[in-house]
Amino acid sequence: MSLQTNVSNIQIRLRNNLLLHRMTTGIFLLLVVGLYYLRNDAYPQDIHGFRLYALFILVFSFAGLAVKIYLYRHKTDHLSRYFWLVNLLDVATVSFLYRLGYYPVNFLLVFYFFLILFTLRQATPGETFYVTSLSLLGFGINAALLWSNWPPLDLPSGWETLIYQFAFITALICLGLMGYFTNLYAKSELQLANHLQQMLDEKEAVLKEASLTHANLEEKYAFAYTLTLIQQSLLEELDEANLLTRITDIIQGVLGSYSCAIFNIEQDHSLKLSAYSGPEPPPELAEIVKEENSLVAKTIKTQTIQNQEAASPAERLFWAQQGINSLLAIPLSTKNNKLGVMLTTGAQEFSFDREQQDQLMIIINQVSLALENTRLHKKTKLMAWHDPLTGLYNRNYLNIFLSVVEGNTENNLGCILFDLDHFKVINDTYGHSTGDLVLKEFGAILAKHTTPRRIAVRYGGEEFMLLSLNGETEELLTLAETIREETAALNFSANNGEHFSITISCGIAAGQDGFNVVFIQADTALYEAKNTGRNKVVIYNPIQKKDLA
Ligand code: GH3
Ligand code: MG
Ligand code: MG
Repeated sequence: MSLQTNVSNIQIRLRNNLLLHRMTTGIFLLLVVGLYYLRNDAYPQDIHGFRLYALFILVFSFAGLAVKIYLYRHKTDHLSRYFWLVNLLDVATVSFLYRLGYYPVNFLLVFYFFLILFTLRQATPGETFYVTSLSLLGFGINAALLWSNWPPLDLPSGWETLIYQFAFITALICLGLMGYFTNLYAKSELQLANHLQQMLDEKEAVLKEASLTHANLEEKYAFAYTLTLIQQSLLEELDEANLLTRITDIIQGVLGSYSCAIFNIEQDHSLKLSAYSGPEPPPELAEIVKEENSLVAKTIKTQTIQNQEAASPAERLFWAQQGINSLLAIPLSTKNNKLGVMLTTGAQEFSFDREQQDQLMIIINQVSLALENTRLHKKTKLMAWHDPLTGLYNRNYLNIFLSVVEGNTENNLGCILFDLDHFKVINDTYGHSTGDLVLKEFGAILAKHTTPRRIAVRYGGEEFMLLSLNGETEELLTLAETIREETAALNFSANNGEHFSITISCGIAAGQDGFNVVFIQADTALYEAKNTGRNKVVIYNPIQKKDLA
């Protein structure tokens, strides 16, 4: 809510003035006609002058009316500038009207008072002064022109002049006082209006501030809620790819950006696009970010938030061709690790304001921690299920694998057990580290022969296993022979410069009696391979087993 503006104030004044003017034009007409007959009898010699002034009155009154109507309809913008003209026309009309009263001080003086009073409306002290001065001037000129019209009084000439002078001066003083008091009143009214306006302005400012604070709080609340959602998904999601895709989705939504991408720093320091949300990414994106002076490269180097201004001219041109004018790159890192970069894009220039950047930094810090957490989790899982020396599965994983597959009675388990021949001698002769190298190389051969349905396990020091689902004995035999030959073909060089090779013994068993049975059978076959010369593959033979028993 506010007070009317000056323009609308002046319009109201003009409207009121117009209304009054219409009314008074009628009164003027009656007056002219009435006075015509009144004075016609008294001063027949001045008939031409009377008609002339009557004409002036009508012309000025209608001209004033026309000017006011025109200003009211068309020139509202400049109205305050031309309002003095309205007043001037009014005073001129009244002056000519006064002239019809014939005597220097006559009852039509009341129109001057009325005119001065009327300027009070809408409080303009300067204008009351202007109208008062004009009215005094109009009255003065008229009084001077009509001075000779005083009717003769039956008094001594000195008294007569004194009375007429007294009447004239009193009229002047009354007009002046009228102007003075109107001016005082107008001033106080203006002050009051200004004061009210000031109060309203202050109130408006307070309201504006309150609504801004409210909007700000609402925005902060929305952000806090988004952050809670992000934290929740960060805690729930342990798969890195899923996690990153969720994050790019959320960020794109929070910022309302065109696209959002996350690049991971790989072990060989190369960059890999690991998550993307938005319209189909341009095919050149992977190449663009790899360049040495790219925005992403700069962000990694400086580990600070960067915008499009840090991008090279060529990169900026590339993005502009895609309709992208805003870029924001934020490093993903923890205290000890540089993890990657998040790149978000916007179509408008400077799409991301300071507050959004701060919010993004908070999100990215959380994401970095979560990312490191998932990697740690992955690493821990790897360590819990894998043998650190060969990278093959360990017995923990074997147990998990068995708990999953053994419930399924259709599984025909095939087991090949491997044991390195005279491995102790290698350790004793060439040292433990050479022994480790041998184990690693052999592990690599086994890893080569794994499939989704066949796993390689290091289940003891130099004892290994290939466990196959639906393994047929013949197939396992061929596989074991291949591995035995590949192992025998390995050529090792020891620290002392000597070269040596190794052999392995294998035991094979297959069946549907469960892992424990198949394992014992394969172990029995392995035992036989060892006892019958090593460097060989033996398939479990139930008859032989009976013989052994
Ligand atoms: P056989 O042909 O009868 O199997 O003889 P072997 O010497 O291979 O068998 P034995 O069981 O006597 O020796 C196994 C050796 O493997 C003993 C142990 O020191 C060694 N070993 C076990 N684990 C590791 C390991 O992780 N690294 C190294 N370098 N040696 C290991
Ligand atoms: Mg052994
Ligand atoms: Mg051995």
